[in-house]
Amino acid sequence: MGPHPGRRGDIMGEIADMMLEGLLDEETGEYIGDQNIKRYGFSSPGFPVSYEREWRKSSAPEFVCDICKKPLKSRRGLLQHQRDKHNKRWR
Ligand SMILES: [Zn+2]
Repeated sequence: MGPHPGRRGDIMGEIADMMLEGLLDEETGEYIGDQNIKRYGFSSPGFPVSYEREWRKSSAPEFVCDICKKPLKSRRGLLQHQRDKHNKRWR
């Protein structure tokens, strides 16, 4: 706690409000008004937005088990899954 907990609380509350309105990225707290204008026509669309999360989702590679078609989050997870579920051996 800092010397001005009340004041700090107000600032945190404002940031939370701006995140809820979509003016700041919900995950990073970064100002995303310019990106919002391009997409929604407003700097704050009125609901939480996170370009960071979207970027992560769209760039996350999907690993699908070629044996049972189960999607895995990582190559490591895929190898582990195939070893555990299909008794596949890896060097
Ligand atoms: Zn599988």
